[in-house]
Formats: sequence, structure tokens, C-alpha cells
Amino acid sequence: MRFTSVAVVLGVCLSVASAEAATRIRIMPPDGGVLAVGQRVDVRVEATSDGAEPPRGLTVLINGKDVTGRNILAAGAGGERGAGGTGTDGTVRLAHRAGVAPPNTTNFLMRDFSVAVPGPLVIEARTADGARASVRLTVERWQARGPAASARNIILLLGDGMGIAHRTAARLVSRGLHNGKANGRLAMDTLDVTGIVMTPSLNSAITDSSPGMAAYSTGQKGSNNQEGVFPDNTADAFDNPRIEYIGELLARTRGRGFNVGIVTTSDVTDSTPAANAVHTSDRYAGPEIAARFFDEREVNGVSVLLGGGARHFMPKDAGGERTDSRRLADEFERAGYTRIATATDVGRLSSAATPPARILGLFHSTHMPVAFDKVGAGRYSDELARPANAAYRDTPMLEDLARLALRSLSAHSPRGFYLMVEGASIDKRAHAVDAERTIWDVIEFDRAVQVALDFARRTNTDRDPANDSLVIVAADHETGGLGIVGVGNERYAPEVLGKAVRDYAAVFRFVPAQELNFFPNYEVDERGYPVDPDPSRKILLGWAAGQDHYENWMSNRLQREAAVAEGKPAVSVANPARDGAGDTSDNKTARGVAIPGFLVKGTIENGETPCPSPAGCPGDTASLGHTISGHTASDVPLSASGPGAWQFTGVYENSDVFLKMLRATRGSYVLPSAAPRASVPANRETGRRP
Ligand SMILES: [Zn+2]
Repeated sequence: MRFTSVAVVLGVCLSVASAEAATRIRIMPPDGGVLAVGQRVDVRVEATSDGAEPPRGLTVLINGKDVTGRNILAAGAGGERGAGGTGTDGTVRLAHRAGVAPPNTTNFLMRDFSVAVPGPLVIEARTADGARASVRLTVERWQARGPAASARNIILLLGDGMGIAHRTAARLVSRGLHNGKANGRLAMDTLDVTGIVMTPSLNSAITDSSPGMAAYSTGQKGSNNQEGVFPDNTADAFDNPRIEYIGELLARTRGRGFNVGIVTTSDVTDSTPAANAVHTSDRYAGPEIAARFFDEREVNGVSVLLGGGARHFMPKDAGGERTDSRRLADEFERAGYTRIATATDVGRLSSAATPPARILGLFHSTHMPVAFDKVGAGRYSDELARPANAAYRDTPMLEDLARLALRSLSAHSPRGFYLMVEGASIDKRAHAVDAERTIWDVIEFDRAVQVALDFARRTNTDRDPANDSLVIVAADHETGGLGIVGVGNERYAPEVLGKAVRDYAAVFRFVPAQELNFFPNYEVDERGYPVDPDPSRKILLGWAAGQDHYENWMSNRLQREAAVAEGKPAVSVANPARDGAGDTSDNKTARGVAIPGFLVKGTIENGETPCPSPAGCPGDTASLGHTISGHTASDVPLSASGPGAWQFTGVYENSDVFLKMLRATRGSYVLPSAAPRASVPANRETGRRP
């Protein structure tokens, strides 16, 4: 029944402005959201006039109570707060500042609002000219100590872009098949529970990494390219209405002795890591994101920060790219963070009797080298042999970083910790339709999963029920539209896969051996990485969301992009240097046999189709050339083990994971959960249900 009433209210809320009013009103947080009891959220109301003058008399009510007087925006037109697009004055602290909005707007902003009791939360707004709007959210309980087992620690491992096929591919390559059965399980296959996660963002069926991660860490749907915030009408990327992260909430409520760790193979300021601690509407604002990690460390609780992205932590004259002369890495060090930069450093700290409580590890100027290049260096990859990469040959694996983070956090967090570990380049190399580098990074990520499971097994089986750990393995979205389309060999590169794709999991007749065994035959080392990336029967990956690119089914010794932008306006074209047929291509021979690539036409716009409107094509990408493959809207798997893990069975929104995690920390979940019944939305015009 609850479902029905929410859907009806939603229909009402979408008709935001009344017909007569020349004012439109937008309320954040948006309709339909679910907040946790006590979770802080900023409320922003934006009234926009059709004319030049701002609307007047903006009134805001929360559950019927007038909160207009709590507007922190400076007085504007006629002395009304927020009228004419005013921001905050200079007296508010950094996290509360708000920039100016357009002059034809009147805005309301209340920071750090929270609700102490569960139930509906209705926010209404109106202006003197008769415009009205309302949103309805739900506040859910979690804090009361429940009878079920609880988790003090949460370890969330996020395989960026890791869809079901990415997991399957890593298992096939790393474990193999025997008479139709997997020869072994990935670590992520061994968790107690697996569910299916729906991933759309607030403004797109296809999420990007920022709201994808933030849905888990905040419980809210956010807009693409935004993390830990809701959209607003100001240009400032760091003043948006915020929603509290789980790490912030637990750090605030549990107090000192609770810590947050963030580990990634990407730039630490990249979407996924930042979407656990930094609130911004611009995921690309790397230097400021780096600064916020530091400037808001008392709130975000981050004690361990490990990954790439060193360029954003030092100014140009000190080898970085900051233009504001801040020496952030030095600031971290003065604040008590131990600074490290190499795999050797990681090994040294990991073997110390007591690892430091605070660690800043920056192992690359940008994203860290991928597993294919670290594991296969000199053997099947030349990437780290490049002079430009000489500094990065002593680079840790993700499992080394996860192990160090867990050692530090567990030694210094008597009130528990939240650790996010990201396998970032699963996504990044899937964007490049780079099969081997994508799969190897899933294997690397899986080894970090094993480290987390080993840690959790110790905490969950020792005599102390108060130190237990919940482990979650998730993905923010799927990248590439990846499909495992067959098994082939290195002898030649067919453009059209053979008829026998399904019945033999093979794509063409083997030449010259005619080996009638169609299981992949990778030999792997003791860690599960192939010794030879191009065995005589390798799996072949197809990319439904791919760009124009050349394919020869072979691994590439250098990390190259599959497509490049050419001309003005730029059109994305397949990069002939990667698997092309010409003389400039790499990897066109295997064991002396030429393997020329063939062109695969992409299914996403390459820029050849000009935007049909002379006014431009706002909001679509008709005129954009995509040199990388896309994310898809496919659901992704999520696996969980430890106290509360059984909440994660079934099919649910990514934003539901937040409350499940919180309830796991209090043992306040109920099993079996009251799953929503199958339902079809009402017809928009008639309001009737089928
Ligand atoms: Zn992502």
C-alpha cells in the first residue's frame, strides 16, 4: 500500500507550477527519496521567475511547519533572504558557503537538516504569486539496537563498471572450465549472498560513477557528474545542497575512534573515491576535491587515503599541477599523515608492528598502472618499460593497498571503520574496449576482495561479537555492454563469428590445429593471472556500447586508446595504431603470424552526425564524438557476507544499500525483508493502473 500512495503523490508533485504563476519552484532533496533517521541533508528551494525580477514571498514548510526563517542565504531584494540570487555572506564556515544564483531567482537554503523520527517528510514551498511545489520523502529507522548480529566495520569493495560479464570473464580466464563447470571460484563468488542492483541516477537511466557510488554511500539518487550533492542553480561546484555520507554519519555519531579509509587504483580525486567524502557537483574538479579531502577531514573522517592523483596534491614548482601553490601533501604530513609513494613503502608499513593511524599514499601522478601492465611487465606488456613510466615500476597491487588500509584501520579504530576499495580501471579499460586490461583488473580487484574476506573471517569468528565486519562487493554500473561472445585462437581474426558460437563456445574453426575442444585454455600463475594472455583458445569479448575501433582479438603490449578524435569539429575514428591493418599498428603478429585487425563500427555517436538544430542540441550528445565506449543501464550484481548480509538478496535500488549497511551496523534489520510486490506505474493521463 505504501508503494501506491507514494506513486500517487509523485504524480501530483511533478506538476510543479500552477498554470497562472510565472514562477517555477524546484525543491531539493527531490521527491521520492529515502533518508535515514538522523542523516543530515541540506534543503534548497529555488523559485525562478519568467521575468527579470525575482519571485517574492518564498515560504518553505517542512511537515507543515514554517521554516522560512532558517534560510541562511543573505538578504536580497526587499530585504528578503535569497531574493535576487544572493549567496551566503562571509561569516559561514567553508562547508556551508553558497555562491550566487541568477538574479531572477529567490532561493532558500538550510544546511544540516535532519529528522529524528521515522515517517513521511513533506517539504512544501510557495511564493506570493501563487506558485507552489512539494516533495515527499520517507525517513527510515535504523538506529535502535536490534536483535540480529551487527557489524562494527563495513568494507565496501567497488568494481567500477563491473557488470556480470566482467565477473564471468575474470572467472573463465582465471579459473577455467572443466566439463562445463568452473574449475574454481573467484573470491567474489564466495560471499554469502548475491543480489541485483538497479543503477539509474537522478537524471539518467545510465549513471556515471559519481552518483553511482554516492547512491551507496548516501542513500540518494544524484545527478550524473555529481557526488554527495543535489543539483542547484549556482555555478559554484562546491556549494550544492549536500547529503551526508555514511562515513561522515558514522564518524559524527560514533565519535573519535571511528575512521574512514579510501583505496583506489585511480586518481584519489576521481568519482568513486571522492563520492565517499567530498561533496561536489563537478567530478572533474580534481585540485579542489583534493583540497576538500584535507580541509574537511574532521567531518569526512578519512584517515587512510591510497591511490593515484599526486598531481593534485602539489603545485607546479613541486612536480604537481596545482595552480594555487598549496602544498597539500605537505599539509597532510604536518597533520600527522604518513606519506608514501611506492610498493616498497607499502610493504614496509604493512610489516611494521603498528602501522600508522593516518596514511596518505599517492602512487602515481594520475591513475595507477593497471594489473596487466604490472603483472605482465616485460613479459607481455611493455607499458612500464616506457621511459615516461619509469617512476611507476615500484607500484603496489590493489590487494597490497587493501591489506595496509585494513591493518591501519583495525589497529586504530576501536569504534569501527568504513573502508571503500575501488578497482577503478575495470571501468577505465572497458571504456577503451581493452579486453585483457579490463579482465586482469577484475582479477586484481578480486584479490583485494580476498584480503577483505580474510580480514572479516577473523573478526567474525573470534570471540568478540562487537568487532565484526560486513563485506560488500558491488559495482556502480556496467561499462561497455560487455558480452563474452566466443572462444577463439590467435591464428587469425575473423570479422564475423562462426555459426558454432553457442554450441561450441567457439567462433571459428581452429587453424591449423583443428583442436576440437572449445573451453578456454589459459595457464595461470599462483595469483590467478594468465601466464600468456593469448593462449590457443582465448575468450573473445564483444562490446555492445563500443566506439569505432579495430579488433584483432589479441592483447596489446602498450596501453593505447581504441579511438581518437580527428578534425574540427572532432569526429571519433578508430585508432589505427591499435590493431589496425596498416604498418603503424601494434600487435599485428603473434608467434610470427600476421594478425591484421578489422574495423568494428561503434554503436555510439562518433560525431559524424551533426546536431540538426542551429540552436545546438542541449541535453543530448548528437554532435559529440565519443572516443570511448559507454556505460550501460544494465543491472549489476552485488555480493555480501557478514552480519546483515542477507538483506542484500533480491532486486533493489543502489540507493537502498545505504540503509541496509546502517541497519547492519545496529543489527536492526528484519529478515526476511518485506520485499516490494511487482507493480506497474499508473497511466500518466488517466491515473489508472492496469
Ligand atoms: Zn563507474
